[in-house]
Amino acid sequence: MKKVDHIGIAVSSIENVLPFYNDTLGLKLVKVEHVETQGVKVAFLDGGNIKLELLEPLHTQSPIATFIEKKGEGIHHIAFGVEGIEERIHELQTKGVQMINETPKPGAGGAEVAFLHPKSAHGVLYELCDKTNIKGDKS
Ligand code: ZN
Repeated sequence: MKKVDHIGIAVSSIENVLPFYNDTLGLKLVKVEHVETQGVKVAFLDGGNIKLELLEPLHTQSPIATFIEKKGEGIHHIAFGVEGIEERIHELQTKGVQMINETPKPGAGGAEVAFLHPKSAHGVLYELCDKTNIKGDKS
C-alpha cells in the first residue's frame, strides 16, 4: 500500500453537512458526483495530504443507507491508493485476505476500486483505489 488516498465518511445529507466542512473546518469542496453503481452521491473535500469523501445514499438499497441505519453517520472506510489493482487483489488473496470485490469495479472519478472484507482486516473496511488509468487526473 503506497498511501492513504481518502477517508470515506457516511452522511445522511451532503447538503446538510457541507457548511460544517466548508465554513467550520475550512475545507474546500473539490467536486460532487453520483456513482450510480454504488448508489451514492459523493463529495470530495480537500484535506491537504488526503481527501475526505462524503458519501450520501441515493436510495434505501444503497450500502451507505444500510450503514447509516445500523451505525449512524461516521467513518465508513479508508482508501489506499494503489497501482495495478488486479495484482494487488490477487496478492492480498494469496495472503489469505477475503475480498468483498474480487474484481475491480468503477468508483468515483473513474477510479477502479475494490473493498477488503472487514472480517479480514480487524474490523476496518479498506478500499483499494487505482487511478492510474484515469486521463489527466493523477491526484
Ligand atoms: Zn472511497
